[in-house]
Amino acid sequence: LEEQPQPQSRIPRRQTVSVNVGGVMVGSAHPIVVQSMTNTDTANAEATAMQVAQLARAGSEIVRVTVNTREAAAAIPEIVQRLADIGVQVPIVGDFHYNGHILLREYPETARLLAKYRINPGNVGAGQRHDENFATMIEVAGDFDKPVRIGVNWGSLDQQVLARLMDENAAKGHPKSPTDVTIDAMVVSALESARFAEELGLAHDKILISVKVSSAPELWQVYRQLAPLCDYPLHLGLTEAGMGMKGMVASSVALAPLLTEGIGDTIRVSLTPEPGASRKLEVGVAQQILQSLGLRQFLPQVTSCPGCGRTTSSFFQSLAQKIQDYIREQMPEWKGRYPGVEDMQVAVMGCIVNGPGESKHANIGISLPGTGEDPRAPVYQDGKLLTTLKGPRIAEEFQELLEKYVEE
Ligand code: SF4
Repeated sequence: LEEQPQPQSRIPRRQTVSVNVGGVMVGSAHPIVVQSMTNTDTANAEATAMQVAQLARAGSEIVRVTVNTREAAAAIPEIVQRLADIGVQVPIVGDFHYNGHILLREYPETARLLAKYRINPGNVGAGQRHDENFATMIEVAGDFDKPVRIGVNWGSLDQQVLARLMDENAAKGHPKSPTDVTIDAMVVSALESARFAEELGLAHDKILISVKVSSAPELWQVYRQLAPLCDYPLHLGLTEAGMGMKGMVASSVALAPLLTEGIGDTIRVSLTPEPGASRKLEVGVAQQILQSLGLRQFLPQVTSCPGCGRTTSSFFQSLAQKIQDYIREQMPEWKGRYPGVEDMQVAVMGCIVNGPGESKHANIGISLPGTGEDPRAPVYQDGKLLTTLKGPRIAEEFQELLEKYVEE
């Protein structure tokens, strides 16, 4: 539980308390945490453990699983055991809706093994039942010393809070639009639930909040409204971002402005995977968002130009890809052996127009020969010309120079 070093970042974070999620600290004193969620049937312990392991190995620092049935709740101990057997250590969070109060009481071993409970205040029941069910989950969290995330989602917003705020708005002559009232209701639902949890005895540093919507402007609005009203760590994510490129762009556009304002202590990118595609993509996208903003460094940055008519061969693209893949493959080993290697910058450029300039800014960089140029590839290291490669082994020789640089 040692404090993790903060990366060098020019973005000041909103000050939040630190919450311990199964050994991973979430809060402004710690790096922004990347998390993701499985899409397997949790009752299938083998498939779920495999996917959790895959996500953890891809860099997910917390993994959430849905706990929606008795079978799913009963499978958690086996999932945790399977992960321990293969040496995967990652906090598992239980996502509860509707029946969390029943499952957490009926399966104490599951309640003990989960690192955090996600509670959606919009679907824990209505009226008196809402308060009782919510209180049951908070009591279990207290019994096992677990944090909770009050996870408000505008697709399942607490209808009582919404109706109350709509009535108040109507009584004042509708000064606010229905969207603005819905945003208000999300903030109120989150804060009232957090306050209720504290009144029930849960410690202040056992609470995180999320208020997720599916469009970027509303996401900015709701988090900007919530952020100054509390110091709970915020879990940031655009819900139902969608598939492929649309989901990646939408998530980046939605999260980046908030992160640059210092809002957000843990993020999840919710991508709908293409059929048969790996769930790991959302972890990579989340990492890339944080890395692009200079908030965290996961991998050495490979700068490559887009290419143009000056570089007609595919050699340049394949070298850029090869170097990127090589670095990604090496990182698990490099990270343990060469501290700080993730801060390295590598440039792979298509010709000498911008190549030497970019290469000089990188730790090590190469400018490949463009169309009509002398078939030589100058390599710069730490701002100085190191050597000029030529011949059929340019790619291999550059990789060797890169390896040597990392070792040295
Ligand atoms: Fe084109 Fe050369 Fe610029 Fe790459 S560095 S985009 S190849 S001019």
